[in-house]
Amino acid sequence: MKRRAVFLDRDGVLVEPVYRADSKAHEPPRRAEELALTPRAVEALRALQGADHILLVVSNQPDVAKNKCAMSDLRQVHLALEARLQAEKIRIERFYYCYHHPDGTHPQWSRTCACRKPGSLLLETAARDYDLDLERSWMIGDRDSDIECARRVGSKTILVSHPHSQEYRHGARADFEARDVLEAAQIVLRRCAA
Ligand SMILES: [Mg+2]
Ligand SMILES: [Zn+2]
Repeated sequence: MKRRAVFLDRDGVLVEPVYRADSKAHEPPRRAEELALTPRAVEALRALQGADHILLVVSNQPDVAKNKCAMSDLRQVHLALEARLQAEKIRIERFYYCYHHPDGTHPQWSRTCACRKPGSLLLETAARDYDLDLERSWMIGDRDSDIECARRVGSKTILVSHPHSQEYRHGARADFEARDVLEAAQIVLRRCAA
């Protein structure tokens, strides 16, 4: 029997974006000290982990491609997140990251790729890695691109309305909407019990 997954977007779902004075925008953390989980993320992940789903993070991280930080910075943030979740006894099976950006300036990472959401390559890769039933899997994300990539592979979708990502939501048709990741987790659990 194939397994079910919950794909989780990272920034704006599990991790709080950080306000940057230079860009006057909320952006992903670039240093370990900047890492903060969203309210109720721990509760949400605990609830999902207790059900019959494996938890996978799927995240676009283009800041190296855009020369906003170094790969070692992203690595530091990732390790801080892993440590934080481990301390809460939460098991994320794997983190799938896309580091590319089509309009970046870093020669190594600036290109069009199939893994950047709304591309669905990372979900397809995860499906092979874990023998997933994508139609019985879920995506929880805060941008249209999260919803779009999951729709392409037939997974169910929940759009979370983080206040700092409003400009990235323009009416993608998600199966469900939720105020935050805990509300999204509750939808998954209700639907799977039904
Ligand atoms: Mg996001
Ligand atoms: Zn990519």
